[in-house]
Amino acid sequence: MDGRTIGAGPAELVCHCLLVELPGRLVLVDTGFGRGDVDHPVPRLHPFYLGLLRPRLAGAQTAAARIRQLGLSPAEVTDIVLTHLDFDHAGGIEDFPRARVHVLERELQAACRRRGFVARGRYRPMQWDGSVAWEPYGVEGEPWFGFSAVRDLKGLPPEILMVPLAGHTAGHAGIAIDTGPSWLLHAGDAYFFHEEMNPEQPRCPIGLRGYQALMEVDRQARLANQHRLRRLVRDHGGAVRVFCAHDRHDLDRLRNVRSYQAAA
Ligand SMILES: [Zn+2]
Repeated sequence: MDGRTIGAGPAELVCHCLLVELPGRLVLVDTGFGRGDVDHPVPRLHPFYLGLLRPRLAGAQTAAARIRQLGLSPAEVTDIVLTHLDFDHAGGIEDFPRARVHVLERELQAACRRRGFVARGRYRPMQWDGSVAWEPYGVEGEPWFGFSAVRDLKGLPPEILMVPLAGHTAGHAGIAIDTGPSWLLHAGDAYFFHEEMNPEQPRCPIGLRGYQALMEVDRQARLANQHRLRRLVRDHGGAVRVFCAHDRHDLDRLRNVRSYQAAA
């Protein structure tokens, strides 16, 4: 789903979800905004963020609608794996009532506590306080390209991993998918602009820098994880394709790659 700009300049943000095809079922990585957000932006979304981001909410751009446009059924989505629970990633959860929702436990705790103005605005329980089948995880895991990775997600093949990347939120994670020839890493909101991953000269427009600073819960961890991601791109760019949730350039780069058959 397209969004609008933040701060200085006419930047356009997108909500980049991934759909993974497994034999007989689908796995969705992040849900973007959902039908409920389109129909009832107020009160589901906080007025501060509605004013700041001015999202263009459209039913045809929800993940469920996109899945139907591919000739598939949202009812086939058995699992949702979330980078985090911000309103622009969790809004579509209830469009997939059969799905289990995999998330880091720290994130679920932070979203339930909602301490402070930013937390109350970013975590919107109306999006997920129904009968969600949560699958929460700790942050321990086996090494993965220099990161720790949470393996053995319940009921999912080992080709789908959660890579803890705290900083933007307490329980923020990247989601890694082994597509066979290479890995994909959905880095969520670990960074916002593709040139932030330039190992030589990282760059980010001032408006997006400001937004990341506004939303961070742990600056040191966030910047350290960005540094690790840059090293990953520099040292393993051929083996791992890294992208973030809101960058139009990243979406266009990967748009022709629509689905993956994990070798389960
Ligand atoms: Zn986001």
